[in-house]
This record gives sequence, structure tokens and C-alpha cells, in this order.
Amino acid sequence: MDFEVAYTPQQQRFRDEVRAFLEVNVPAILRTTHARDGDTYEEYQAQRELGRKLGVKGWLYPTAPKQYGGGGLSVDEAIILNEEMDRFDMTLPPYSDSATLAAPTIQVWGTPEQKQRLLPPMYRGELRTWQLLTEPGAGSDLASVQTRAVKDGDDYVVSGQKIFVGTDYGADQLWTLAVTDPNAPRHENLSWLMIDFRAPGITVQPMELLTRSDAGGQKNSVFFDQVRVPGDNLVGGENNGWKVASTHLELEHGGGGRVGTDKLFPRVVEYCKTHLLDGVPIIKHQDARDLLMDYFIESEIQRLFGVRNYWLSHANKPRSYEGPQLSMWRKWSNVLRSHMLLKLLGYHALTSDPAWTVAEGQVELNHRSAIVGTHPGGTIEVQKLIMARRIGIGRTAREEAGRLE
Ligand SMILES: Cc1cc2nc3c(=O)[nH]c(=O)nc-3n(C[C@H](O)[C@H](O)[C@H](O)COP(=O)(O)OP(=O)(O)OC[C@H]3O[C@@H](n4cnc5c(N)ncnc54)[C@H](O)[C@@H]3O)c2cc1C
Repeated sequence: MDFEVAYTPQQQRFRDEVRAFLEVNVPAILRTTHARDGDTYEEYQAQRELGRKLGVKGWLYPTAPKQYGGGGLSVDEAIILNEEMDRFDMTLPPYSDSATLAAPTIQVWGTPEQKQRLLPPMYRGELRTWQLLTEPGAGSDLASVQTRAVKDGDDYVVSGQKIFVGTDYGADQLWTLAVTDPNAPRHENLSWLMIDFRAPGITVQPMELLTRSDAGGQKNSVFFDQVRVPGDNLVGGENNGWKVASTHLELEHGGGGRVGTDKLFPRVVEYCKTHLLDGVPIIKHQDARDLLMDYFIESEIQRLFGVRNYWLSHANKPRSYEGPQLSMWRKWSNVLRSHMLLKLLGYHALTSDPAWTVAEGQVELNHRSAIVGTHPGGTIEVQKLIMARRIGIGRTAREEAGRLE
């Protein structure tokens, strides 16, 4: 067995091509190092433009099928693309988009006509979706959603409220879970609809959280008041929504993985080398080095779980507990690491005042984000629960991962 990652000359050439492309196409506005708690409109537009350019080359969704506008590339090439984006502290896509969850779900559950109509604009970065699952009475217990979709001729008429959803600057399509049969048993009453963001009867109301950055931007409540949706936008069959959700949630619960390194760590190390405590650089103190090493170990585990899951997902390998394992670890470890930084840096970790801040406000932002970040896509407790069921603890029969093909 050889754990040394080695790239072939052909893969190295691909990396060179990607790097050269990004050097030319990543604008200065996306190369900032200061803390960005959410994006300005100009930054968002620059991210979208970069996304469309990547989409034209098939690099936005590199492993998605070519016939629907994806890149049809190998997982190795996709990892290279992600690593090169990570050099700019960006992911694929470079803006928050629930298409990363909706598109693979439609690929599994959509009709041929729906795939042909809905997937290409997502894979090319031409439209963005929000995922609308959570409601005031249905978060961890997602199957309790109340938003109603009532059949009316060929259409559905949707009414209800979603919370903690979306981002800044709107969307084009809303990927929404709703009740289509209120009399059916739990888990047999739901369906997924793709809803046009501009349809009459939709109101968006911003929510203020501790931070926007780890939430993918501004969170909102979305109200549906008798919103008419064409019947052919129902994906996966009527009242089959819980099965469809198993695909969506598998990816959201960490199953999609992530390729990326902790950008804060080297900046904190640099700070500790250049700032004094009791007259000597912080890094010379044994307890500071100890904390930095604990931090490094934590973030390395997260990175490795992330790459493993990205590979499992994009190489279509079987999986079980790995998604919730990453999700739980990332959430828990972010909180732990933010406390380590507080211990290491004291009040400097809690301020963005230029006179006292560390890493241009990134440490302070990280502290808030870690707390907010324990919720999106299922809380720590919920991930632990799913993991337990996957390894045969807590239920008599082992639960399987969601359907991904
Ligand atoms: C920043 C952010 C971004 C989000 N983005 C989206 C989005 O884009 N789309 C979307 O639809 N939703 C989104 N959400 C909502 C998120 O999915 C929910 O907040 C989450 O699923 C928890 O639901 P809840 O807030 O209703 O808490 P609750 O479900 O009420 O849980 C409250 C507490 O009880 C615990 N708990 C609940 N059930 C159990 C159990 N069975 N065992 C043990 N403990 C349990 C939870 O862990 C939690 O600590 C976002 C939330 C946040 C904060």
C-alpha cells in the first residue's frame, strides 16, 4: 500500500492548465485576505462570473455528466480543480449554491425530460438554487414539514413558511420540500418541487444571525402564499419525497466531502512568530506550541475526512457512516479550535479592531462562525444519531446511506 499521492505527467499538465486559467480569471476583488462576513454585491457578481467561466469549460461541476453540461471528468481531475480553487480560498462553485445538492438529487430521481431541462443551467453556473427544507416546527425532525402543495389541474399551489434558508442576493429556483398528501402516513406524504423564485406569492424576509460567513450568506424566512407551480416541476414522484430526501440529505450531511486546507492556521502561526508575550515571541512558549499542535491535528483530521468523502462521492464508491462523521467532526472541531485560539490569543481572538485583531479579523469571525456552523445541514447531535444507526448502534437493523445513483 502506498499513501504517497503522486500525479501523472498528464495530471500535472491539467493542474498547470487550471492554475494558469485561474491566475487570469480570478479578479482582484476575490483575492482579499481580510475577514469577509458575507459578500458584497460586487464580490457576489465576480463569483458568479467566475462560475460561468468555469461552467463553460465543464470545470464548475467537473464530475457531472457531460450530456447535461457537466465536465465528465475523473475524480482525480476534480480534486486537482478543487485544490487549485482552494489556493484562492474558494470552493466549486465559488459562490453558495444548493445546486450542489439539488442537481445530483435530480440526476437520481428526475425524469429524462427534467434532467434535460433543469441540470444544464445549474452545471453551467447560469442559475442558482436555494434549498428550502427547514420550517419553524421542522428542523431536525424534517419529516414534520407543514408547507402544503395542493394539486390544482396540472399545477400545484404552494403555501407555507420556510426558515434559515437561502443566501444574499436571491436565487433563480427554490428546491423545496412540501406536503402533497396530509392524510398519508409520515414519510409517505411529501414531495420535492422546483419553484421559480420570481413566481407571484413569494416573500423573502432576512434573518439576522451571529454571522453570515459560515451560513453561506444571509439567512432568510421565505413565505409562500398560494404560489402556482407547474406539475412537471415535481421531482421524484408524488408523495415519494422522503426517499428523494435521502439522496439530498446524504450529500448535505457531509457525504459530498470537501477538498481544502485550513487557511487560518498559517496566519495564526505567523502572528505567534511576530508578536511577543512576556517579551518573547508567543511561539516560543511551550503551552502556545502545544495548543498550535492540537489545533493542527484537529484541522488535519477534518481535511482528511473531507478529501476521503469527496473521493467516495465523486468516484461513486459505496459508503455508510462517512458523511455524518465528517459533518459531526467539522462542526465539533470548529468549536473546539475556536476555543483553542481563544486560549492562545486571549481577547485578541474576540476583536476585529485593527489595533488588536489577529489575521485581519479572521480569528474573531471564526469564533462566531463556529457557533453558527453547528446547525446547517443537521446539528452535531443529529449527525451522531445518523452515524450510530449506520454502524448498527441504536437500531436493531443497520441503516444504509442515502441512494446516490
Ligand atoms: C447558518 C444556518 C444555515 C442554514 N441553512 C439552511 C438552508 O439552507 N436550508 C434549510 O432548509 N435549512 C437551513 N438551516 C436550518 C438547519 O438545517 C436547522 O437549524 C437544523 O436542522 C436544526 O433544526 P432547528 O434549528 O429547528 O433545531 P431543532 O431541531 O429544534 O433542535 C434543537 C436542539 O435539539 C437537538 N435535537 C433535536 N432532535 C434531536 C434528537 N433526536 N436527538 C438529540 N438531539 C436532538 C438539536 O441537536 C438541537 O441542539 C440553516 C441553519 C443555520 C443556523
